[in-house]
Amino acid sequence: MMNKEKNIQEIINHLKSAGFVFQGSEIYGGLANTWDYGPLGSLLAKNLKDFWWKEFIIKEPNNFAVDTKILMNPKVWEASGHVANFSDPLIENKLNNKRYRADHIVEQLFPEIDIKNMSNLDLENFIKENVKEYDNSKTDWSSIRQFHLMFETQQGVVVDKKDLIYLRPETAQGIFVNFKNVQRATRAKLPFGVGQIGKSFRNEVTPGNFIFRTREFEQMELEIFSYPEQSFDIYKKYLEKVWNFLLKLGIKEKSIRLREHQKEELAHYSQATSDIEFLFPFGWGELLGVAHRGDFDLKSHMLHSKENLEYLDPETNKKIIPHVIEPSIGMDRLLLALIVDSYENEKLENDDTRIVLKLNKELAPYKVAILPLVKKLSKNADDIFQFLVNNNISATYDETGSIGKRYRRQDSFGTFYCITVDYETLNDNKITIRNRDTMKQERIDIDQILNYIK
Ligand code: ATP
Repeated sequence: MMNKEKNIQEIINHLKSAGFVFQGSEIYGGLANTWDYGPLGSLLAKNLKDFWWKEFIIKEPNNFAVDTKILMNPKVWEASGHVANFSDPLIENKLNNKRYRADHIVEQLFPEIDIKNMSNLDLENFIKENVKEYDNSKTDWSSIRQFHLMFETQQGVVVDKKDLIYLRPETAQGIFVNFKNVQRATRAKLPFGVGQIGKSFRNEVTPGNFIFRTREFEQMELEIFSYPEQSFDIYKKYLEKVWNFLLKLGIKEKSIRLREHQKEELAHYSQATSDIEFLFPFGWGELLGVAHRGDFDLKSHMLHSKENLEYLDPETNKKIIPHVIEPSIGMDRLLLALIVDSYENEKLENDDTRIVLKLNKELAPYKVAILPLVKKLSKNADDIFQFLVNNNISATYDETGSIGKRYRRQDSFGTFYCITVDYETLNDNKITIRNRDTMKQERIDIDQILNYIK
């Protein structure tokens, strides 16, 4: 079944009842667009982050990890351009898709008008009536949208304007401000990468589509610092690497596509950007982005902090400002994509059906479920459980309900193997192991379980 034919509400209902995702603050009627991960969701999220960590940090000898704070000196967000670019009334000319600051347009064309007391609606109506041509184009204005992208809060006990700080809207800036620290500590030579996983916050104007767009989310970001002349090769290398990363996770190739940004669409800092989009039940949506940020970030932080962030090239003894390639992935969006892609409502023989999450073995919240056929066998089953978890195999235990129902339950969790312990086990030291996808069962020696699973 194509993802587009899948019913997102059915999937959401399943995720709730199985314990993947709950509505945030549910007993108080919820808080709009907030979602909590339950027992299975938090395991899946952890496995996903570990997978990223392994591919982008551990396996790359010249990539290093950091863990920087959500709260940063507010000057960081001046340097990054967020203060200037994300809290203004924006209006779009739909004929050329260019966005402008509505207040700037009026200030520029009608300097005699005092706009201080005009609401966004006043501004919008005024522009729609009076600005029929702008920036060498006829106009068809959108409504004004106020982008308060950054969440504001205060630091310290006395509430005062000067203590205003922000919750970070991306993890990247924590990496840029530590560029020199990491380079000095690791003595890394260009090109090298610095990555981290962490929470980001954006006061999105249009959150929604379940966990696709929320105001609090987690990012897995990597910044690769390189010589300018090698930066485009690295950009291409990482585009390929993230594509292959998705395939390794088990995402189907037909569910993703590459979209290169047109020149006009590029962010102010970017020399090139490509997104990988995923086919969600609600249509194609950005899953991740790879951006060539040039030297914008380091240059801007040098200017604002007055610190020298140049790199001394050991070969030529010349100082340069490295260029930056950024693969940036939203963990929650990727988790949603994985669930959508692996969720199947399968028809079986005898008009039976089952919900199965065909998650990759490494991602499945539980690799194994231990199912004693009767309660009397609990002790034997528990021994196997202990043995597996002591060998770092994530396992669960279920002794209630018919065996058929227990299999179905585990299938719908994505559990890769089910192990049944029965009376025969006491005699022959064998268990039955069942594969989630093929539903085939085999009887194997207890001593062989670990080999079998691995
Ligand atoms: P969009 O166009 O969807 O708003 P963006 O281009 O602003 O995304 P980036 O700033 O490039 O996003 O952030 C990198 C990644 O972080 C995105 O590809 C996405 O996976 C994730 N992300 C961004 N905003 C959100 C959000 N509000 N909720 C969940 N994930 C997000």
